[in-house]
Amino acid sequence: MPAAFSQQALDAQAVAERTFICYHMAGGRKDAHPEADVCTSPACCSAYVAQEDAAARWGDKAEEYETKVQQAVRDTDGQIILYDGSPILAAFHSSSAGVTADSGDVWSSSLPYLHSVETPEGEDSVPNYYSVSTFSPEEFREIFLAAHGDADLSGDPAEWFRDRTVNDSGRVERVTIGGVSVEGTEVRRLFSLRSACFTVDTGEEGVAFRVTGFGHGVGMSQYGAELLARQGKTWQEIIHWYYADVTIGAYKE
Ligand SMILES: [Zn+2]
Repeated sequence: MPAAFSQQALDAQAVAERTFICYHMAGGRKDAHPEADVCTSPACCSAYVAQEDAAARWGDKAEEYETKVQQAVRDTDGQIILYDGSPILAAFHSSSAGVTADSGDVWSSSLPYLHSVETPEGEDSVPNYYSVSTFSPEEFREIFLAAHGDADLSGDPAEWFRDRTVNDSGRVERVTIGGVSVEGTEVRRLFSLRSACFTVDTGEEGVAFRVTGFGHGVGMSQYGAELLARQGKTWQEIIHWYYADVTIGAYKE
C-alpha cells in the first residue's frame, strides 16, 4: 500500500499484514520453509522492503512516510482479525473492478470471511486502472502451447476464443482457447495480466487483453480502503467492509 495513503487505510493494512503473519504462525508454512513461519518472498508469503530501501524510494517524503507507517503499527498494536477466534487469511490486493472476488472463484476452496463485496475505486482513483496487454499471434501461440500443447491455434486469432464466461464479480471464469477450456485465473497467470477481469480483442495483429484492476481481487482492496478512509471510515470499519463476520482482537496462541 502506498505510504501516501490516509492513516486509517494504512492502519487497516497494518492489521491485515499482522493478521496474515499470525495466520501463518498458527498454521505454519512448514512445507515451504520449515525454519520460519513466514518469509519475505511475495510469491510465497509477503513482500518486504527494508527501511533504508523504502527511504531511498520515498526520497524527501521518507521521514513523513516512516512516521505514518510507525503510527499505523502503534494505532493497531497487537490487534488482528479473527473468525471463530482464529486469525484469518487476511488476503488483500491493489484494486478491483467494482466488486472484490469471492475466494472460491480464485482459490480451490472458499473461505467464509472472503466473499465478494462492493468496493468504491475506479478509473479516477487508481493509476493504470485499465491496462492493455498485447501479444502477436506468434507470441500468443508460444505461451499458450507451452501450457496446452493440444490447443489448435492455427488460422485467424479471431477464431481461437470461444465461450468466455464471467463470474458474479465480473472476472473471467472460463474461456475456451483453441478448443481447450481454461480458467480465467490461469489466463491471467500465463500472460501476466494485471487481473482476471479482462476482455479479449483479436485481429491479424494478434491478441489484446483489456484488463481492469490489479491483483487477485480477494479480501481488502487497498485503493478501496483509501477511498473509504477519505470518506471518514475508521480502520475498523474498513476491515469489516472487506472481511465478513469477523471480529478484531488480540492474538492468543
Ligand atoms: Zn514463505
